[in-house]
Amino acid sequence: MYAPPNGFFHDGLDGDPELASAIRGEWARQRDGVELIASENLVSRLVLEAQGSVLTNKTVEGAAYARYYGGAEFADRIEALAVERAKRLFGCGFANVQPHSGSNANAGVFLGLLALGDVILAMDTAAGGHISHGHPATLTGRDYRIVRYGVSRETETIDRDEVRDLAHAHRPKMIVAGGSAYPRAIDFSAFRAIADEVGAWLLVDMAHVAGLAATGHYPDPLPHADVVTTTTYKSLRGARGGLVLWNDEALSSRIDAGIFPGVQGSVMLHAVAGKAACLGEALKPEFADYNAAVLANARALGETLQKEGLRLVSGGTDCGLMLVDLSGTTTGDVAAKALEAAGLAVNKNLIPFDPRPPEAPSGLRLSSNAGTARGFGEVEFRTIGGLIATVVRAPSDQRALAAARDAVSDLCARFPIYPRP
Ligand SMILES: *Cc1c(COP(=O)(O)O)cnc(C)c1O
Repeated sequence: MYAPPNGFFHDGLDGDPELASAIRGEWARQRDGVELIASENLVSRLVLEAQGSVLTNKTVEGAAYARYYGGAEFADRIEALAVERAKRLFGCGFANVQPHSGSNANAGVFLGLLALGDVILAMDTAAGGHISHGHPATLTGRDYRIVRYGVSRETETIDRDEVRDLAHAHRPKMIVAGGSAYPRAIDFSAFRAIADEVGAWLLVDMAHVAGLAATGHYPDPLPHADVVTTTTYKSLRGARGGLVLWNDEALSSRIDAGIFPGVQGSVMLHAVAGKAACLGEALKPEFADYNAAVLANARALGETLQKEGLRLVSGGTDCGLMLVDLSGTTTGDVAAKALEAAGLAVNKNLIPFDPRPPEAPSGLRLSSNAGTARGFGEVEFRTIGGLIATVVRAPSDQRALAAARDAVSDLCARFPIYPRP
C-alpha cells in the first residue's frame, strides 16, 4: 500500500530547505538589486501564480478543442483565452501560444514554412541578431543555408541597400528582421518591399519590443510581416515562453504543425496560463503607461551615460534597450563583474564591428524593462546612469563599488517587490 508522504500536498518550499534557500536567495537578489538585463523583467504576482499552478499536472497535445487526450475542458479554456488575448493585443488574425521559448517559435516557423537547405537571410549575431536565427551552433543553422546582413559602419543601423543586395544575390526563401541587441526602430515596410522583390517570406522577431509595438511605442510589424514571433517574458512583462502571430489563414496549419509536432511535444499549460495572464494585463491601459515609461526611462538612462562621456552604439535608443560602447574605458566582462558587485545586473555584449572577442567584448547591453516594472522613473534611471559611469570608470576601486552598492540598496528598498516566497 502506498500513501503520499505527510505534507506532500501541503508543504511548500519549506519541505526542501536546500532548494528553498536558493530560491529565496534569488528572490532577495531581485529585491535588492537593479535589473538591467534586457532579456528580463519582473512579472506580476498574478503571472507567478498562474505559472506555479496545478496546470503543470495536465498534459494536452494539439490545438484547443482538438486534443488527443481527454479531460481538457479547462486546458482548452485557458489556451483559447491566451490565443484570443494575443490576437486582440496585436490586432492579428491568428496566434499560436504554445512555443516553450522564443527559439522554439522561430524553429517551428522555419520548419513549417521552409524546406531543408532553403536560404534564410537574417541579421548577424555580431551586429545584434539572435542565435535562433540560424547561428551555426544551432539546428536551424545546420538545416538551412544562412546568409547574414549587418549594420552600416557609419550609422550602426541596418543598411537596407545591403539587405536588398544580399536578397537579390542569394534569393532567400525567408528574410528575418529583428534582433537581441538592436536599439533602433526597424523599417518593416522596407523589409516587406525587399521580401516581395525576391519572393521571400518576411518573419519579424519582435522579442525585445513586443510590448512597445503592442502599445504604439515602436513600429508595428504585423501589417508588414507574413509571420511575427516573440518571447513573452521580455518587454511583454510576462510568463516565460514564446508566441507566433500571423494574418493569413492559409499559413495556419503549416505554422501550427511546425510548432507541434515539429519542434515540441505537449503543451506547457502552466506557461500558457502565465501567457494568458500577462496578455490580459497587456490589454489594460496601465500597460501602455508602462511602455511609455520604459521608453522615457531608457532615454533618461542613455542621455545620462552620454553626458558622462560614454558612447551609445548608433547614438541612442528607440526602444527599452541600448548598447554602451566602453572602448577606451574598460571591457564588457570587467564592467559587468564590477557592476554586479555594485548590485547592478547587466550583460556584456559585442558591439558592431567589435575588434574584441565575445568573452571580453567592448560593450554592455542595458534595458529599462525591469526597473520600470518596479516603479523606477527618470530620476531613478539618471541615478543609475551615474552609478554605472562611476563603476565602469573605476571597476577595481573597492571603495567606489561599496558606495555604489549602498546607493543601489537604498534605491531598491524604496521600490519593494513580492513578499518572501
Ligand atoms: C530572447 C530572444 C529569443 C529567444 O528566446 P528564448 O526564449 O531564450 O529561446 C529569440 N529571438 C530574439 C530576437 C530574442 O531576443
